[in-house]
Amino acid sequence: MAHRVTLIPGDGIGPEVIEATKTVIDAAGVDIKYDVVEAGAGVMEEKGTPLPDEVIESVEKNKVALKGPITTPVGSGFRSVNVAIRQKLKLFANVRPTKNLPGIGVKDADLVTVRENTEGLYSGVEHYCDEDHSVAESHCIISRKASERVVRFAFEYALQEGREKVTAVHKANILKATNGLFLETAKEVASDYPEIEFEDRIVDNMAMQLVQKPELYDVIVTTNLFGDILSDLCAGLVGGLGVAPGGNYGHDKAVFEPIHGSAPKYAGQNKVNPTAQILTGTMMLKHIGEKEAANNIYQAVEEAIQEGEKLTYDLGGDAGTQEYAEYVASKL
Ligand code: NAD
Repeated sequence: MAHRVTLIPGDGIGPEVIEATKTVIDAAGVDIKYDVVEAGAGVMEEKGTPLPDEVIESVEKNKVALKGPITTPVGSGFRSVNVAIRQKLKLFANVRPTKNLPGIGVKDADLVTVRENTEGLYSGVEHYCDEDHSVAESHCIISRKASERVVRFAFEYALQEGREKVTAVHKANILKATNGLFLETAKEVASDYPEIEFEDRIVDNMAMQLVQKPELYDVIVTTNLFGDILSDLCAGLVGGLGVAPGGNYGHDKAVFEPIHGSAPKYAGQNKVNPTAQILTGTMMLKHIGEKEAANNIYQAVEEAIQEGEKLTYDLGGDAGTQEYAEYVASKL
Protein backbone atom coordinates (compact mmCIF):
# COMPACT_ATOMS: atom_id res chain seq x y z
CA MET A 1 0.00 0.00 0.00
CA ALA A 2 1.21 3.50 -0.80
CA HIS A 3 2.54 5.63 2.05
CA ARG A 4 0.59 8.83 2.52
CA VAL A 5 2.80 11.85 3.13
CA THR A 6 1.93 15.55 3.40
CA LEU A 7 4.00 17.60 0.96
CA ILE A 8 4.62 21.29 1.69
CA PRO A 9 6.64 22.63 -1.28
CA GLY A 10 7.21 26.02 0.41
CA ASP A 11 8.39 29.07 -1.53
CA GLY A 12 11.59 30.53 -3.00
CA ILE A 13 13.75 27.56 -4.03
CA GLY A 14 11.39 25.19 -2.14
CA PRO A 15 9.30 23.94 -5.09
CA GLU A 16 12.46 23.25 -7.16
CA VAL A 17 14.28 21.22 -4.51
CA ILE A 18 11.06 19.37 -3.65
CA GLU A 19 10.51 18.45 -7.31
CA ALA A 20 14.10 17.19 -7.52
CA THR A 21 13.58 15.13 -4.36
CA LYS A 22 10.39 13.56 -5.72
CA THR A 23 12.30 12.58 -8.87
CA VAL A 24 14.88 10.72 -6.77
CA ILE A 25 12.37 9.09 -4.39
CA ASP A 26 10.30 7.91 -7.37
CA ALA A 27 13.42 6.40 -8.93
CA ALA A 28 14.08 4.49 -5.71
CA GLY A 29 10.73 2.79 -6.26
CA VAL A 30 8.97 3.96 -3.10
CA ASP A 31 5.21 4.19 -3.47
CA ILE A 32 4.11 7.46 -1.90
CA LYS A 33 0.84 9.32 -2.29
CA TYR A 34 1.53 12.99 -1.55
CA ASP A 35 -1.13 15.31 -0.13
CA VAL A 36 0.11 18.69 -1.35
CA VAL A 37 -0.66 21.70 0.85
CA GLU A 38 0.59 25.26 0.47
CA ALA A 39 1.93 27.59 3.16
CA GLY A 40 3.85 30.87 3.11
CA ALA A 41 3.55 34.30 1.54
CA GLY A 42 2.03 32.85 -1.64
CA VAL A 43 -1.20 31.76 0.07
CA MET A 44 -1.43 34.78 2.38
CA GLU A 45 -3.57 36.83 0.01
CA GLU A 46 -5.95 34.04 -0.95
CA LYS A 47 -6.39 32.49 2.52
CA GLY A 48 -5.68 35.47 4.78
CA THR A 49 -2.97 33.53 6.63
CA PRO A 50 0.44 32.13 5.65
CA LEU A 51 -0.41 28.93 7.53
CA PRO A 52 -3.91 27.71 6.56
CA ASP A 53 -5.54 25.16 8.89
CA GLU A 54 -5.42 22.47 6.21
CA VAL A 55 -1.61 22.34 6.47
CA ILE A 56 -1.68 21.39 10.15
CA GLU A 57 -4.72 19.11 9.65
CA SER A 58 -2.97 17.22 6.86
CA VAL A 59 0.14 16.56 8.96
CA GLU A 60 -2.04 15.57 11.92
CA LYS A 61 -3.78 13.03 9.68
CA ASN A 62 -0.74 11.63 7.85
CA LYS A 63 1.69 12.00 10.81
CA VAL A 64 4.53 12.72 8.41
CA ALA A 65 5.42 15.56 6.05
CA LEU A 66 8.17 16.49 3.61
CA LYS A 67 8.61 20.24 3.58
CA GLY A 68 10.53 22.79 1.52
CA PRO A 69 11.73 26.09 3.00
CA ILE A 70 9.36 29.02 3.60
CA THR A 71 10.36 32.69 3.64
CA THR A 72 9.93 34.72 6.84
CA PRO A 73 9.71 38.51 6.46
CA VAL A 74 12.54 40.21 8.43
CA GLY A 75 11.62 42.70 11.18
CA SER A 76 7.90 43.01 10.46
CA GLY A 77 5.11 40.98 8.85
CA PHE A 78 3.92 37.52 9.84
CA ARG A 79 5.82 35.33 12.30
CA SER A 80 7.81 32.40 10.93
CA VAL A 81 5.56 29.76 9.38
CA ASN A 82 8.39 27.27 9.93
CA VAL A 83 8.48 27.95 13.67
CA ALA A 84 4.66 27.94 13.85
CA ILE A 85 4.47 24.49 12.19
CA ARG A 86 6.98 23.08 14.71
CA GLN A 87 5.19 24.66 17.66
CA LYS A 88 1.62 23.79 16.60
CA LEU A 89 2.52 20.15 15.93
CA LYS A 90 4.70 19.94 19.07
CA LEU A 91 7.69 18.83 17.02
CA PHE A 92 10.03 19.31 19.92
CA ALA A 93 13.31 17.92 18.53
CA ASN A 94 15.03 19.20 15.41
CA VAL A 95 17.62 16.68 14.27
CA ARG A 96 20.37 17.95 11.96
CA PRO A 97 23.04 15.42 10.95
CA THR A 98 26.45 16.67 9.80
CA LYS A 99 28.43 14.19 7.73
CA ASN A 100 30.83 14.68 4.85
CA LEU A 101 29.92 13.50 1.41
CA PRO A 102 32.95 12.27 -0.58
CA GLY A 103 35.55 14.99 -1.09
CA ILE A 104 33.38 17.80 0.26
CA GLY A 105 33.85 20.11 3.21
CA VAL A 106 36.63 21.86 5.07
CA LYS A 107 36.73 19.42 8.01
CA ASP A 108 35.83 15.78 8.64
CA ALA A 109 32.78 15.58 10.85
CA ASP A 110 30.18 13.02 11.75
CA LEU A 111 27.93 14.50 14.37
CA VAL A 112 24.28 15.30 14.94
CA THR A 113 22.76 18.44 16.42
CA VAL A 114 19.51 17.96 18.35
CA ARG A 115 17.93 21.39 18.75
CA GLU A 116 15.09 22.18 21.15
CA ASN A 117 12.39 23.34 18.81
CA THR A 118 9.49 24.85 20.75
CA GLU A 119 10.70 27.52 23.17
CA GLY A 120 13.83 29.48 24.16
CA LEU A 121 14.24 32.75 22.27
CA TYR A 122 11.80 31.47 19.62
CA SER A 123 8.86 31.62 22.02
CA GLY A 124 7.58 34.71 20.22
CA VAL A 125 7.12 36.67 23.44
CA GLU A 126 8.63 40.02 22.57
CA HIS A 127 7.58 43.62 22.30
CA TYR A 128 8.70 47.20 22.17
CA CYS A 129 8.84 48.74 25.65
CA ASP A 130 8.01 52.28 24.64
CA GLU A 131 5.95 54.15 22.09
CA ASP A 132 8.86 55.40 20.01
CA HIS A 133 10.33 51.89 19.70
CA SER A 134 13.65 52.80 21.31
CA VAL A 135 13.74 49.77 23.61
CA ALA A 136 12.61 46.20 22.91
CA GLU A 137 12.70 42.94 24.84
CA SER A 138 12.38 39.24 24.01
CA HIS A 139 11.66 36.58 26.60
CA CYS A 140 13.79 33.44 26.55
CA ILE A 141 11.45 30.81 27.96
CA ILE A 142 13.02 27.56 29.09
CA SER A 143 10.96 24.90 30.86
CA ARG A 144 12.05 21.76 32.66
CA LYS A 145 9.47 19.77 30.67
CA ALA A 146 10.71 20.84 27.21
CA SER A 147 14.36 20.55 28.25
CA GLU A 148 13.79 17.07 29.63
CA ARG A 149 12.00 15.75 26.55
CA VAL A 150 14.60 17.06 24.09
CA VAL A 151 17.56 15.80 26.12
CA ARG A 152 15.88 12.41 26.55
CA PHE A 153 15.26 12.37 22.80
CA ALA A 154 18.98 13.03 22.21
CA PHE A 155 19.99 10.11 24.47
CA GLU A 156 17.42 7.77 22.90
CA TYR A 157 18.63 8.85 19.45
CA ALA A 158 22.24 8.17 20.50
CA LEU A 159 21.28 4.66 21.68
CA GLN A 160 19.31 3.91 18.53
CA GLU A 161 22.03 5.16 16.18
CA GLY A 162 24.93 3.54 18.06
CA ARG A 163 26.45 6.86 19.07
CA GLU A 164 28.58 7.15 22.19
CA LYS A 165 28.47 10.67 23.57
CA VAL A 166 25.97 13.47 24.18
CA THR A 167 27.20 17.04 24.70
CA ALA A 168 24.79 19.59 26.17
CA VAL A 169 25.51 23.11 24.92
CA HIS A 170 24.39 26.17 26.90
CA LYS A 171 25.31 29.59 28.26
CA ALA A 172 24.60 28.80 31.91
CA ASN A 173 27.53 30.91 33.12
CA ILE A 174 25.68 34.09 32.10
CA LEU A 175 22.03 33.05 31.64
CA LYS A 176 21.95 31.38 35.01
CA ALA A 177 18.20 30.83 35.31
CA THR A 178 17.16 29.79 31.78
CA ASN A 179 20.31 28.01 30.68
CA GLY A 180 21.04 26.88 34.22
CA LEU A 181 17.69 25.07 34.18
CA PHE A 182 18.47 23.50 30.80
CA LEU A 183 21.88 22.29 32.00
CA GLU A 184 20.60 21.01 35.35
CA THR A 185 17.84 19.07 33.55
CA ALA A 186 20.32 17.67 31.03
CA LYS A 187 22.53 16.38 33.87
CA GLU A 188 19.53 14.71 35.53
CA VAL A 189 18.45 12.98 32.30
CA ALA A 190 22.06 11.91 31.59
CA SER A 191 22.11 9.95 34.85
CA ASP A 192 19.46 7.63 33.35
CA TYR A 193 21.87 6.71 30.51
CA PRO A 194 25.13 5.56 32.13
CA GLU A 195 26.12 3.72 28.93
CA ILE A 196 26.34 7.04 27.01
CA GLU A 197 29.10 9.50 27.87
CA PHE A 198 27.82 12.95 28.83
CA GLU A 199 29.56 16.32 28.94
CA ASP A 200 28.59 19.97 28.60
CA ARG A 201 30.10 22.95 26.82
CA ILE A 202 29.50 26.69 26.90
CA VAL A 203 28.22 27.74 23.49
CA ASP A 204 30.98 30.21 22.54
CA ASN A 205 33.68 27.66 23.31
CA MET A 206 31.64 25.06 21.44
CA ALA A 207 31.53 27.21 18.30
CA MET A 208 35.34 27.44 18.32
CA GLN A 209 35.77 23.73 19.12
CA LEU A 210 33.43 22.73 16.29
CA VAL A 211 35.54 24.65 13.79
CA GLN A 212 38.84 23.26 15.08
CA LYS A 213 37.99 19.76 16.36
CA PRO A 214 34.57 18.60 15.16
CA GLU A 215 35.75 14.98 15.45
CA LEU A 216 35.48 15.28 19.25
CA TYR A 217 31.68 15.54 19.06
CA ASP A 218 28.97 12.99 18.45
CA VAL A 219 25.46 14.13 19.50
CA ILE A 220 24.95 17.76 20.55
CA VAL A 221 21.79 18.76 22.38
CA THR A 222 21.04 22.43 22.86
CA THR A 223 18.49 25.21 23.07
CA ASN A 224 16.57 26.60 20.11
CA LEU A 225 18.73 29.57 19.05
CA PHE A 226 22.08 27.92 19.77
CA GLY A 227 20.96 24.84 17.81
CA ASP A 228 19.97 27.01 14.87
CA ILE A 229 23.32 28.77 14.75
CA LEU A 230 25.58 25.78 15.52
CA SER A 231 23.87 23.55 12.95
CA ASP A 232 24.53 26.14 10.22
CA LEU A 233 28.15 26.24 11.40
CA CYS A 234 28.25 22.43 11.15
CA ALA A 235 26.73 22.60 7.65
CA GLY A 236 29.57 24.95 6.70
CA LEU A 237 32.11 22.35 7.84
CA VAL A 238 30.85 19.70 5.46
CA GLY A 239 30.06 21.64 2.30
CA GLY A 240 27.41 24.22 3.07
CA LEU A 241 23.66 24.56 3.31
CA GLY A 242 23.14 22.82 -0.01
CA VAL A 243 24.03 19.46 1.53
CA ALA A 244 22.61 19.75 5.08
CA PRO A 245 19.42 17.80 5.86
CA GLY A 246 17.09 17.94 8.87
CA GLY A 247 13.96 16.61 10.50
CA ASN A 248 11.56 17.78 13.21
CA TYR A 249 10.22 15.06 15.50
CA GLY A 250 7.37 15.01 17.99
CA HIS A 251 5.90 12.08 19.91
CA ASP A 252 3.90 10.74 16.95
CA LYS A 253 4.47 13.21 14.08
CA ALA A 254 7.47 14.34 12.07
CA VAL A 255 8.11 17.06 9.49
CA PHE A 256 11.27 16.76 7.42
CA GLU A 257 12.91 19.94 6.10
CA PRO A 258 16.48 20.91 5.22
CA ILE A 259 18.42 23.41 7.31
CA HIS A 260 18.55 25.96 4.52
CA GLY A 261 15.99 28.64 3.85
CA SER A 262 14.21 29.77 0.71
CA ALA A 263 17.29 31.48 -0.82
CA PRO A 264 15.06 33.99 -2.67
CA LYS A 265 17.86 35.28 -4.89
CA TYR A 266 18.10 31.85 -6.55
CA ALA A 267 14.37 31.12 -6.78
CA GLY A 268 13.12 29.88 -10.13
CA GLN A 269 16.61 29.55 -11.62
CA ASN A 270 16.96 25.75 -11.46
CA LYS A 271 20.37 26.42 -9.95
CA VAL A 272 20.55 25.46 -6.27
CA ASN A 273 21.72 22.18 -4.85
CA PRO A 274 18.83 19.83 -4.00
CA THR A 275 21.09 17.43 -2.04
CA ALA A 276 20.00 18.83 1.34
CA GLN A 277 16.35 18.28 0.45
CA ILE A 278 17.09 14.84 -1.07
CA LEU A 279 18.95 13.73 2.10
CA THR A 280 16.07 15.17 4.11
CA GLY A 281 13.91 12.84 2.01
CA THR A 282 16.08 9.89 3.10
CA MET A 283 15.46 10.82 6.76
CA MET A 284 11.73 10.81 5.97
CA LEU A 285 12.01 7.43 4.22
CA LYS A 286 13.79 5.89 7.23
CA HIS A 287 11.06 7.27 9.47
CA ILE A 288 8.31 5.57 7.44
CA GLY A 289 10.19 2.25 7.39
CA GLU A 290 11.76 2.50 3.90
CA LYS A 291 15.30 2.05 5.18
CA GLU A 292 16.61 0.23 2.12
CA ALA A 293 15.39 2.91 -0.29
CA ALA A 294 16.87 5.57 2.02
CA ASN A 295 20.27 3.84 2.00
CA ASN A 296 20.14 3.38 -1.78
CA ILE A 297 19.44 7.09 -2.30
CA TYR A 298 22.25 8.05 0.09
CA GLN A 299 24.66 5.85 -1.87
CA ALA A 300 23.46 7.29 -5.19
CA VAL A 301 24.12 10.82 -3.87
CA GLU A 302 27.58 9.76 -2.65
CA GLU A 303 28.40 8.28 -6.05
CA ALA A 304 27.14 11.31 -7.95
CA ILE A 305 29.19 13.65 -5.79
CA GLN A 306 32.29 11.48 -5.87
CA GLU A 307 32.18 11.31 -9.68
CA GLY A 308 31.74 15.08 -9.78
CA GLU A 309 30.41 15.17 -13.35
CA LYS A 310 27.11 16.90 -12.60
CA LEU A 311 27.48 19.17 -9.61
CA THR A 312 25.56 22.34 -8.81
CA TYR A 313 27.27 25.74 -8.55
CA ASP A 314 27.91 25.56 -4.79
CA LEU A 315 30.06 22.45 -5.26
CA GLY A 316 31.96 23.93 -8.19
CA GLY A 317 29.83 22.60 -11.05
CA ASP A 318 27.31 24.08 -13.45
CA ALA A 319 24.55 21.44 -13.46
CA GLY A 320 20.98 22.57 -12.85
CA THR A 321 18.89 21.43 -9.87
CA GLN A 322 16.80 18.99 -11.87
CA GLU A 323 19.71 17.81 -14.03
CA TYR A 324 21.64 16.84 -10.90
CA ALA A 325 18.56 15.10 -9.45
CA GLU A 326 18.08 13.10 -12.63
CA TYR A 327 21.75 12.11 -12.54
CA VAL A 328 21.31 10.85 -8.95
CA ALA A 329 18.09 9.09 -10.00
CA SER A 330 19.90 7.38 -12.88
CA LYS A 331 22.11 5.59 -10.33
CA LEU A 332 19.17 3.96 -8.59
P1 NAD B 1 19.09 30.61 3.09
O1 NAD B 1 19.43 29.31 3.70
O2 NAD B 1 17.83 30.70 2.33
O3 NAD B 1 20.25 31.04 2.09
C1 NAD B 1 21.52 31.51 2.47
C2 NAD B 1 22.51 31.23 1.35
O4 NAD B 1 22.87 29.84 1.42
C3 NAD B 1 21.93 31.39 -0.05
O5 NAD B 1 22.02 32.70 -0.52
C4 NAD B 1 22.80 30.44 -0.83
O6 NAD B 1 24.02 31.06 -1.11
C5 NAD B 1 23.03 29.31 0.14
N1 NAD B 1 22.06 28.20 -0.05
C6 NAD B 1 20.94 27.95 0.66
N2 NAD B 1 20.36 26.85 0.21
C7 NAD B 1 21.11 26.40 -0.81
C8 NAD B 1 21.02 25.29 -1.70
N3 NAD B 1 20.03 24.38 -1.61
N4 NAD B 1 21.96 25.15 -2.66
C9 NAD B 1 22.97 26.00 -2.75
N5 NAD B 1 23.13 27.07 -1.94
C10 NAD B 1 22.20 27.27 -0.98
O7 NAD B 1 19.14 31.69 4.27
P2 NAD B 1 18.64 33.20 4.33
O8 NAD B 1 19.02 33.92 3.07
O9 NAD B 1 19.11 33.68 5.62
O10 NAD B 1 17.06 33.09 4.40
C11 NAD B 1 16.18 33.24 3.29
C12 NAD B 1 14.75 33.05 3.79
O11 NAD B 1 14.56 31.70 4.21
C13 NAD B 1 14.40 33.93 4.98
O12 NAD B 1 13.10 34.42 4.80
C14 NAD B 1 14.45 32.97 6.16
O13 NAD B 1 13.63 33.36 7.20
C15 NAD B 1 13.97 31.69 5.51
N6 NAD B 1 14.40 30.46 6.20
C16 NAD B 1 13.53 29.43 6.20
C17 NAD B 1 13.90 28.22 6.77
C18 NAD B 1 12.90 27.09 6.75
O14 NAD B 1 12.03 27.08 5.90
N7 NAD B 1 12.99 26.14 7.64
C19 NAD B 1 15.17 28.07 7.33
C20 NAD B 1 16.07 29.14 7.28
C21 NAD B 1 15.68 30.33 6.70
